[in-house]
Amino acid sequence: MFSKILVANRGEVAVRIIRACREMGIETVAVYSEADRNSLPAALADERICIGASPAAESYLNQKNIISAALAMGANAIHPGYGFLSENAEFAALCEENGITFIGPDSKVLEAMGDKDHSRQLMKEIGVPVVPGTEILKDAAEAKERAKEIGYPLLIKATAGGGGKGIRVVWKEDELENAFYAASREAESAFSNGDVFLEKYLTSVRHVEMQVLADCFGNILCLGERDCSLQLNKQKVLEETLCPVMTEEIRQQMMDAAVKAAKAAEYTNAGTVEFLLAPDGQFYFIEMNTRLQVEHPITEEISGIDIVKWQIRIACRIPLDIRQENIHLHGHSIECRINARSTGIVDFLHIPGGARVHFDTALVQDCEIVPYYDSMLGKLIVYAQDREEAIRKMEAALCEMVIQGVETNIEDQLRLVRSKAFFKGEYDTLALQNILEEGRGINE
Ligand code: ADP
Ligand code: ADP
Ligand code: MG
Repeated sequence: MFSKILVANRGEVAVRIIRACREMGIETVAVYSEADRNSLPAALADERICIGASPAAESYLNQKNIISAALAMGANAIHPGYGFLSENAEFAALCEENGITFIGPDSKVLEAMGDKDHSRQLMKEIGVPVVPGTEILKDAAEAKERAKEIGYPLLIKATAGGGGKGIRVVWKEDELENAFYAASREAESAFSNGDVFLEKYLTSVRHVEMQVLADCFGNILCLGERDCSLQLNKQKVLEETLCPVMTEEIRQQMMDAAVKAAKAAEYTNAGTVEFLLAPDGQFYFIEMNTRLQVEHPITEEISGIDIVKWQIRIACRIPLDIRQENIHLHGHSIECRINARSTGIVDFLHIPGGARVHFDTALVQDCEIVPYYDSMLGKLIVYAQDREEAIRKMEAALCEMVIQGVETNIEDQLRLVRSKAFFKGEYDTLALQNILEEGRGINE
């Protein structure tokens, strides 16, 4: 087993990884930017080292500084968390060249599956349904031509996109040209790759994804689904498992498709295969996320399997010792992402507790929320025997939570968990916008 792991991330996920390492008897090195000097992960890790100035480009995305830190501190492996360098094939290769294990898939797999156009082609070859669409297109004129086959509305999608960036909805032909170049420019600046393609814009669909774990010996496990349909601006807000509308038959088909995808990609480590599920039960592959997912804890709750620990063991070439038939999914789990809507100092903090209620966060009393990074403050996670009890538990936990000094989305999360649409489990990827608009002012 590794003796020392460097955690190349910040915030709640850095804390999550440090805790897993501690429980496994592995030493940790935290890296921090100047703004994060007094952060919780830097305090919790066995050792810590500054990797640069506050902007992410100079610290958490600074590949050379991170590799130098790992070499200087004698770390044998790097866990990249999610976001930042977690899906960066160049960084994974740089780790490999320096004799440091990158905790994630091989750099070649990252490169292949991080490219949506490539992964779509691969899925088509192995018979996993994809959303109707095109390959990468060279300009708006070609896009206009190809749009005739697909029909409107459609999406322009960056092949390198992530985190909801590089996607544009196009309702009619005269909007296409502007959207094409806007998506391309956004992707060029965020991912240094402006290549885009078209996809049919499906409505009344749910976002349902499958968690997989694959070791270096060809064993692939699927830990079931997560419903992440509740989104704002294509970013997930609340996730739950099991999916409230899933049937045993569709679950089995989707799990088979996810395992087939991981196998075809020669995937190792933890990964997520994302699908859109239509009301008729048809589902379509959209992308594979080649890293730990923000919402992984709800799967851990219902499966009893620690995904981060398995990421570390798999990277250390330890075979999975669990068989698919021994995976049993019990109960119901919900996660609410708690986001900041302003910067400021958290001058009062109360974190809810109780049986199987937890808040994954790096917040501490008097910490400062700075403008440089993602706005997620933490993830409130509950588990209960059934969905209704889990909803009541989440409502109680949201009521109990106090974060003063910064504006947050806690009130919106409460509105959501109290809404009729959520209670009934009847929602799609566009529902949250309506729930929040309708909920304002009435029936609260
Ligand atoms: P998930 O399905 O896990 O939420 P996302 O695509 O939303 O996946 O991204 C995971 C996290 O990483 C989010 O907090 C997102 O804001 C962040 N993220 C995504 N892309 C980047 C990026 N290029 N740089 C930094 N953070 C990113
Ligand atoms: P990202 O890499 O930014 O996560 P995705 O391709 O996973 O991008 O899409 C993000 C979200 O956008 C999905 O969860 C879904 O809500 C919506 N979406 C993506 N593709 C489609 C589509 N073809 N039709 C309708 N909605 C889509
Ligand atoms: Mg996605």
